[in-house]
Amino acid sequence: MGEFDLIARYFTRPTRRAALGVGDDCALLQPAPGTQLAISSDMLVEGRHFFADADPFALGHKALAVNLSDLAACGATPLAFTLALALPRADDAWLEAFSRGLLALADAHGCELVGGDTTQGPLNICITVFGEVPVVRGKSQALLRSGARAGDDVYVSGTLGDARLALDALRGSVKLPADLLAQARQRLEQPTPRVALGQALRGVASAALDLSDGLLGDLRHILKASGVGATLDTSIAIDLIASCAHPSCADGLISLEKQLECVLSGGDDYELAFTAPVSAREVVQAAALQSGTQVTRIGRIDSERGLRLVDGQGRAVSNPYQSFDHFA
Ligand code: ADP
Ligand code: MG
Repeated sequence: MGEFDLIARYFTRPTRRAALGVGDDCALLQPAPGTQLAISSDMLVEGRHFFADADPFALGHKALAVNLSDLAACGATPLAFTLALALPRADDAWLEAFSRGLLALADAHGCELVGGDTTQGPLNICITVFGEVPVVRGKSQALLRSGARAGDDVYVSGTLGDARLALDALRGSVKLPADLLAQARQRLEQPTPRVALGQALRGVASAALDLSDGLLGDLRHILKASGVGATLDTSIAIDLIASCAHPSCADGLISLEKQLECVLSGGDDYELAFTAPVSAREVVQAAALQSGTQVTRIGRIDSERGLRLVDGQGRAVSNPYQSFDHFA
């Protein structure tokens, strides 16, 4: 199978919204009148972001999911994406499963594959997504990192820390019952981008971002961009890990320290962290309901810079957690 057969067989589909898809020198997109394009790229590298023997279906899903998660964080509606792929060899079984995982998620979000590049080389998957954000009376409705204000509430979507727990188990540092590992592994390998929630939070959230490197590290990006600080309640955060609510998770199987570490500094969750004024609490819950996504209020924004952790009684808790940094 040659390069062009491969593209034709696995990555060429009729377009619906794009003006022109795969096959020419450029794809053509027509954003709806009164919208801006939101654009983001994410790369997955073998050995860095996934194991060499990773399930290709899950990999296809995840490669697009992490990109859709960035659109979600901006409140954008997915439109299209491009796929730049380096492959060691043209393996039909692998390509079939990879493209199925990729395109199933793409279809679920109405996000069309409109182009890309294919080359031989060490496995590397780079996707660029394009989304739309409305502009209302000249003002972009995109959710940014810079809008958090002192007094705002801090929220996270879904559950946190299970992807990290799965990674620890796969590396052998934690032992989990098979059904619990399967559930956590699903979170690591097939994250759910919170696209509907992101859109529902337009005009509601004051700031937002998606969680890829760990809650504390990622939240600092909002704090820095907004020139504020935050206090988080660890007694609420600790319950965000789903694995500990699993029926086969015995008491003490995962220590409290480990739970908190996974929630606060584990990466790969692809949930949203966002802030909103106290006056918007009901609207935030309505957005959560409307998008079918749980959201939990875990703290507040302070005018004093820095990130503080407290227990359920408001007493300071030490913060030894590090988030992921490729070059640290
Ligand atoms: P060019 O040489 O002009 O860059 P290519 O020969 O690389 O074009 O690609 C031919 C067509 O196939 C282009 O429309 C390109 O966008 C598309 N394409 C290449 N690789 C992929 C891929 N992995 N997924 C989707 N489309 C692809
Ligand atoms: Mg090319």
